[in-house]
Amino acid sequence: MTKDIATPARTKEILNKYGFQFKKSLGQNFLIDTNILHNIVDAAKLTSESGVIEVGPGIGALTEQVAKRAKKVVSFEIDQRLLPVLKETLQPYPHIEIVHSDILKADIQATIAEKFEEGQDLMVVANLPYYVTTPILMKLLEEKLPLRGIVVMIQAEVAERISAKPGTKEYGSLSLAAQYYAVAEKVMTVPASVFVPRPKVDSAVLRLTIRKETPVNVTDEDFFFKVIQSSFANRRKTILNNLIHNFASKEKKPEIEQSLAEANIDPKRRGETLSMEEFAALSEALWTRFQSS
Ligand code: SAM
Repeated sequence: MTKDIATPARTKEILNKYGFQFKKSLGQNFLIDTNILHNIVDAAKLTSESGVIEVGPGIGALTEQVAKRAKKVVSFEIDQRLLPVLKETLQPYPHIEIVHSDILKADIQATIAEKFEEGQDLMVVANLPYYVTTPILMKLLEEKLPLRGIVVMIQAEVAERISAKPGTKEYGSLSLAAQYYAVAEKVMTVPASVFVPRPKVDSAVLRLTIRKETPVNVTDEDFFFKVIQSSFANRRKTILNNLIHNFASKEKKPEIEQSLAEANIDPKRRGETLSMEEFAALSEALWTRFQSS
């Protein structure tokens, strides 16, 4: 029986056979530990009916483990050099389809409609290229795809920020943006030794379970996120000063103060102490005064 792709010996053999040189600019750090791969797949709670979208199969280490548990896998890979490799390594799994595309440019909604059954249980599972972790995750969340969830290996520090609670130093606009769409949990931290080449930063597995309903109701989502971004622009400043400098202007101080009062928020507080519900109340109060600007 052929060894799993992720075993160090098989990975080395594949890389040597194709003379593959890692491209740092594409965030190529391949997993060489089957236990970690099993943990990632377990976290996704797949069934034999599940469909999976993967970002960046590399030489197929994670793709193979996912394919053993899912009905269908569609995997987006940007690096053309990997296509012949994947053709060979994933040959035993006819229910895997590789799409040669930059995930940031791909029409994922159309791919889902084309390649998966309507109403099929759908997960994203990936060991993400670290240089584009946040844009990829935000694209997956903002496009409101019909996903049950997302399980990804990312930088530990980003996993902390995404799953952070109010009042912590990691809590910020990324936490709020992700938690608006999903329930975020850090599943485990992962040592650099399970990758080739070893990344310089620690890694973690993050699970995002997509919410069926958003945790707050706001009139305008873009406006809500603009308020949040402005509130965290300078973390040392109070919420009032951040809003004066980044959301409106000095002349609008009275309207901002009225909005904060209406939302029951002390103007001296800092953005990092505000819950999602408080940001929603603030956003609604500001909306009535600033919607036209
Ligand atoms: N899944 C493999 C594993 O776990 O060993 C490889 C993971 S490696 C961290 C990231 C992969 O994403 C690489 O194969 C890289 O070429 C690919 N990649 C980088 N940027 C991408 C993008 N924008 N769209 C699709 N794939 C991308």
